[in-house]
Amino acid sequence: CGIVGYVGPQSALDVVVAGLKRLEYRGYDSAGVAVLSDGSLAAAKRAGKLVNLEKALVERPLPSGTTGIGHTRWATHGGPTDANAHPHLDNAGRVAVVHNGIIENFAVLRAELEERGHALDSETDTEVVAHLLAEEFSATADLAEAMRLVCRRLEGAFTLVAVHADDPDVVVGARRNSPLVVGVGEGEAFLASDVAAFIAHTRSAIELGQDQVVELRRDGVTVTGFDGRPADVRSYHVDWDASA
Ligand code: GLU
Repeated sequence: CGIVGYVGPQSALDVVVAGLKRLEYRGYDSAGVAVLSDGSLAAAKRAGKLVNLEKALVERPLPSGTTGIGHTRWATHGGPTDANAHPHLDNAGRVAVVHNGIIENFAVLRAELEERGHALDSETDTEVVAHLLAEEFSATADLAEAMRLVCRRLEGAFTLVAVHADDPDVVVGARRNSPLVVGVGEGEAFLASDVAAFIAHTRSAIELGQDQVVELRRDGVTVTGFDGRPADVRSYHVDWDASA
């Protein structure tokens, strides 16, 4: 339902959780975050309100990191449980993905993954994406390219945002139908389903087009189509008052 991603000098966890709070008005049933720290990936997720997640983070703090993603879920496939909450990870725990929307062909993809030896442990349509990204990343060592390859195999409407522990300064996002907006700051960048999530940090925004993938780094963003062709990027100034 709500998505936030961040790369920059700040605590990714703080930025992401604050962003998720800004998206709470949309309604959700679960929440989760993932942070990259010192070459590894750490995640926490809970059914229920953000306060449940925050409690879990107090009981078992995540290591600090400056690249992270977060999600508030409105369940479509699989009930609102901790296991079904996002982010979803691959079996090695190296890649984390959050998702808005529905992946219609997930059952076929899941069966193929299980045949190749992957163990899936949620009931969501989303989890297949983490496993597919892990496979494509091990072939390409390029998270944006892995995302493009995976998106070409997905049917449905989705925004996806992912991080990989082997590419620690990058957040990658993809969009088909569901909205996804990039926020461009000074030495930092944001991704969100709604500008409200990052308006406190920057008002320079880029709306992703249909079937586009964005690679976020501290020093800039790169946008391509799912086919890998460079896309035209037009940034705009967000001028509405988001203090409410
Ligand atoms: N279809 C996904 C799920 O049920 C994502 C739902 C959402 O948009 O929050 O987990």
